[in-house]
Amino acid sequence: MPASVLDGKRLAEQLRAELAEEVIEFIQNNGAVPCLAAVLVGEDPASEVYVRNKRRACEAVGIESQLHRLAADASADDLLKLIAKLNKDTEVHGILVQLPLPKQIDKNRVLSAVSPNKDVDAFHPENVGRLVQGRPRFLPCTPQGVQQLLVRNEIEIAGKHVVVLGRSEIVGRPLSIMLSQPGPGGDATVTLCHSRTRDLAAITREADILVVAIGRPKFITAEMVKPGGVVIDVGINRTENGVVGDVDYNAVAQVAGAITPVPGGVGPLTIAMLLRNTLVAAESLET
Ligand code: NDP
Repeated sequence: MPASVLDGKRLAEQLRAELAEEVIEFIQNNGAVPCLAAVLVGEDPASEVYVRNKRRACEAVGIESQLHRLAADASADDLLKLIAKLNKDTEVHGILVQLPLPKQIDKNRVLSAVSPNKDVDAFHPENVGRLVQGRPRFLPCTPQGVQQLLVRNEIEIAGKHVVVLGRSEIVGRPLSIMLSQPGPGGDATVTLCHSRTRDLAAITREADILVVAIGRPKFITAEMVKPGGVVIDVGINRTENGVVGDVDYNAVAQVAGAITPVPGGVGPLTIAMLLRNTLVAAESLET
């Protein structure tokens, strides 16, 4: 029987509708409007699209958005000055520095300069530390989207063997931590795999839930998946045939019990979680 489809687009619409109501309530209670400031350095076309989509999504749920642009040849100091100004601005609740940054700018220095209270991407070392300790201020957006996709589709996580493929700082590693924490949405037994993992297929075949975030088009084949398992495809790969995930969808959908499409799976949830984090930031700064 073909896998059931985990529809991230529909879930994101539902989450955004819920959020829009919470934003109205927040404005009524605090007389302030949640506000996300996006910082874009240079003119990378993909980054332009991402920032535009994030700003549109903000506006659709009643969150204000600002765009601060710097030229591609801006120095680290120019950017740090802008961040210091946004950190102090009481009307700004969330700050998003769109990556990648031009090569003359040290990403880690910049991300550490964002106030941890406004760090809606959850990249600041303090927020990463809090996540590891199980007392997060913000959950990173893409891992939070994956977790919500599982929880809202009533897929049991506790006690399950989750295999996360990819150990990046923004997706695989934080997700592996979140799903292994005690409590709701966690309690999984997690195996984190990467490019040095030996006999990968033997491990992925053991996964009750397989999450793939490696950036390799159609890398996961049907033979690598446990029959009836849940497959979450985080990959976004632009190919001649359009956008494809890290999973060979048509073949894997014949084996898996549930699967996310690409596009329309994890992608829309990432932005929904950014909006959620902006409201969380506004709530903690205004109340
Ligand atoms: P990175 O390039 O930062 O990390 C890739 C990870 O995959 C690394 O840990 C790497 O291992 C591992 N890897 C690469 N090739 C293999 C392989 N052949 N076998 C096993 N492991 C491998 O990627 P990101 O985490 O930033 O992104 C991953 C994918 O998710 C991309 O397609 C990206 O576009 C997409 N993405 C989607 C988002 C969304 O909203 N849906 C958000 C963010 C990313 P090693 O560490 O050993 O090098």
